[in-house]
Amino acid sequence: MASLAGSAAVAILLSAWVLGFTTRPLRRFAAAANRLGVDMSAPSLDESGPREVRLAASAFNTMQRRLKAFVEDRTRMLAAVSHDLRTPLTRLRLRAEFIDDDAVREKMLEDLAEMEAMIGSTLAFARDQANEEPMQAIDLNAMLGKVAEDMRDAGRPVGLTPAPQPLPVMGRRMGLRRAFCNLLDNAVKYGGTAELGLSRGAETVTVTIDDHGPGIPEAEFDNVFRPFYRLEASRSRDTGGTGLGLSVANDIIRGHGGEIRLSNRPGGGLRVTVTLPVGEG
Ligand code: ATP
Ligand code: MG
Repeated sequence: MASLAGSAAVAILLSAWVLGFTTRPLRRFAAAANRLGVDMSAPSLDESGPREVRLAASAFNTMQRRLKAFVEDRTRMLAAVSHDLRTPLTRLRLRAEFIDDDAVREKMLEDLAEMEAMIGSTLAFARDQANEEPMQAIDLNAMLGKVAEDMRDAGRPVGLTPAPQPLPVMGRRMGLRRAFCNLLDNAVKYGGTAELGLSRGAETVTVTIDDHGPGIPEAEFDNVFRPFYRLEASRSRDTGGTGLGLSVANDIIRGHGGEIRLSNRPGGGLRVTVTLPVGEG
């Protein structure tokens, strides 16, 4: 009996070891695939081990290099297009100045100014994307505390209740700052004030931004994330935005493995909920 149990135990241990050994590369691939969605500049996979593993790792690295080059090409193209559009636009503005009809001239100059603003923010977005910031450990409590303070100094009412514990995430400092500034800017612009709420779960950090504005009709929740999309009310109210703020914020948060959700608060006003994975920092 004892020897039978002994050999069974040895067989079980041996197969567990073999299983662990053979599935380790798969775990590495899973981790690398997850990382790729967040950071395209993550270091390449180690191309060592048995032949099949080596081949798969090399194919994965080639895919990562191609994806990165593809995204970079597109970003460069976006920058080039928006940059080159500025020259004919300037010419148009000069020509428009010569229109005799005052009303037509004013309307045309307004349209041209709007186009210039759109092109300017597209160019700024493309430049931000091209400038690769390293991922680093960030405490959201501290970062958002600073953002709220800066906005208050600029006369914009932003309140914040910090979480009792630190909120560590791995991220790009400038990028995250821009994303939260865009969301807070909206809350203040459309809802009068912004109130930040911070909390931490087991795997995610959650930031809510509440305002007291009109909210957004549920049917428009997806649309407002589209570039240059603005609700009719904000277009006519002349709040001066170009409609890129939410698209940029969404792009940045997704690039950190997180997401942005919208909801209308029962008492009125919009709630924007941002979740980000807890970072190891
Ligand atoms: P930009 O941010 O580029 O200056 P914008 O604020 O118009 O311009 P987004 O931030 O992308 O663009 O927002 C898109 C639209 O969603 C806004 O025009 C507005 O109609 C609506 N919206 C965004 N945030 C709110 C909010 N907190 N309350 C009500 N409506 C909002
Ligand atoms: Mg905005």
